[in-house]
Amino acid sequence: MAQPSWAVLDKSNFHYEFRVSKVKAEYEMWRSAQPIRDVRSHEDWTTLSSVLRSQLGEPKHRQARFLDALDCLDRLPRLRAFVEDSWLLDMEQLSFIERAVCEAPIAIQDDDFFWKALDEDLMERFTPSRPRQLTPTNSTIKATVIGTIRSVEHLAIPDSHPLGNKPVEGPATCENPGELMSTLPPVEEETSSLIMQDLPGGNVRFDLSVGQAAGTQIADAVMQVANEQNCSQAEALSGLILGNISTQVTTLVYAAKDVEDAPVYHPERGLLSAEAAATLQELVTKTLDMDEAADAATCAYETTDLIRAYLFGRDWTCRWPGCSRKATHCDADHRINHADGGPTTAANMIMLCRHHHNRKTDRQAFYLLDHHTGDVYWLFADGTYVVDAATGPLAPKQKRWVQTFSQRRLRLRERLAAQAAAERFENYQHRINSPPEPRRYLPWRRERDPDGLTVEV
Ligand SMILES: [Zn+2]
Repeated sequence: MAQPSWAVLDKSNFHYEFRVSKVKAEYEMWRSAQPIRDVRSHEDWTTLSSVLRSQLGEPKHRQARFLDALDCLDRLPRLRAFVEDSWLLDMEQLSFIERAVCEAPIAIQDDDFFWKALDEDLMERFTPSRPRQLTPTNSTIKATVIGTIRSVEHLAIPDSHPLGNKPVEGPATCENPGELMSTLPPVEEETSSLIMQDLPGGNVRFDLSVGQAAGTQIADAVMQVANEQNCSQAEALSGLILGNISTQVTTLVYAAKDVEDAPVYHPERGLLSAEAAATLQELVTKTLDMDEAADAATCAYETTDLIRAYLFGRDWTCRWPGCSRKATHCDADHRINHADGGPTTAANMIMLCRHHHNRKTDRQAFYLLDHHTGDVYWLFADGTYVVDAATGPLAPKQKRWVQTFSQRRLRLRERLAAQAAAERFENYQHRINSPPEPRRYLPWRRERDPDGLTVEV
């Protein structure tokens, strides 16, 4: 059997040599510009970028983007060796990794543990599991980086994240959205804002920013009402706020039932922050078993909620090669048409966006589905094929990563506990070795010592 490989690195591919030469030359050109990047001030950078502009012919914004990408790569030794050996990733993709890393809080970006974890996760993502596999899309690369950030996020704010969440699995039914919105948890001052602006013509523009848990529920309510009422999302939102529309809204969250500290996913938001996950999990009223959903079937053409939840959780996006439209905005396609006896069950279905669903219905492409792994084999007219690996939380690679996530959180929790113990010991030593403080003549006054114990002076 053929070895797992990336389709783009197939040497029998006519374009292979051209592509590798281009990727390699571009990478080496930016490496040649990197040493003089060591600048301290804005003025220095302005001068240097003008020199680079004259020598490389590249504008300033591309210089900043690609030199930052190389700085980022230099902190990921395994990925760097892989990049320079395989030429799988080009400068655009490296820059995409760097920009996703910038979303991490500064405290995380300064921590070596994060960089080691990121190196490990990216290497796992760039290891193919099938022959002629498609390179991960930019959104999958971003999701990988966000996954690493989420797995170490309590490095940034160790006290504010609940580490001991109980994992909950399957879709959660939410209440009436009108009622739901009025009962949403209070949003932190610093994370929420609302800007209202009068526009010419009498319209009013609202710019709302809320925390991830509240935002997820609002977005789900709006999207569902817009679909049901066949109206715009703006009309759905105003109808909900003014109380003209009410509906039962379902918010799906996915989490492994048998793994402690399992990551929690939402089909639109991706991997949720620990805070949002805890808030949404408290609202869970119904749990669906995804193992059961994998083999569930119905005689109807339309999928049941259970089958649909499984398809979202496995496919995550449109499965057409390279398309990253979210599965929640896609149609469930019967590989063998329902009219020809194709069953409505996950083993015979994939999610395709409307545009690519039409291409498939026109018989411009043909695919095979491996139900056990979720891999889709796309067959082209010239006899070649590529494999699109599923990227949702129910896909094999993501299921394995759930273990990594949980183990990493455990290691970090132990590290934080050890740090706290060391600090307490240091404080204790400091106290016992310090000369006694002069007695203060304030009888019965109570004070708090730094360890939080109440002492009487
Ligand atoms: Zn598509």
